[in-house]
Amino acid sequence: MKQTADILTSKGIRPSVQRVTVLHYLRGVKTHPTVDTIYQDLLPENPSLSRTTVYNTLQLLSDNGLVLTLDFGEGYLRYDADCSPHCHFKCKCCGNVFDLMSPPPDCSNMLPQGFNLSAVQLSLFGTCPKCSGH
Ligand SMILES: [Zn+2]
Ligand SMILES: [Zn+2]
Repeated sequence: MKQTADILTSKGIRPSVQRVTVLHYLRGVKTHPTVDTIYQDLLPENPSLSRTTVYNTLQLLSDNGLVLTLDFGEGYLRYDADCSPHCHFKCKCCGNVFDLMSPPPDCSNMLPQGFNLSAVQLSLFGTCPKCSGH
């Protein structure tokens, strides 16, 4: 696994302590956390961290293609450091978001002339095995 600081440097981002901390945390979780979750989890070990810094860092990482922003219509964004093509499943019962490792469908043939595709995100909704009682 590449060092988190190296990943930032390779994108021309100065690897400040806060940036490394946020990206390192995100690379270590599979929960697709929100800004608030990330902030609250990091705060005990990083008392000088502010919510704004976390937010701005996530914005920067997202602009540089290092994290995905996910919108499940919840009124807030979730973040994912796994930028490989994959889909998501949101359980409407427990609220957890799961990775589906199959790539999103090829949507390029859906586009009329003149449209350029830059990203496809596919979110599926339903109930997870735990919530469906399996
Ligand atoms: Zn569930
Ligand atoms: Zn994911």
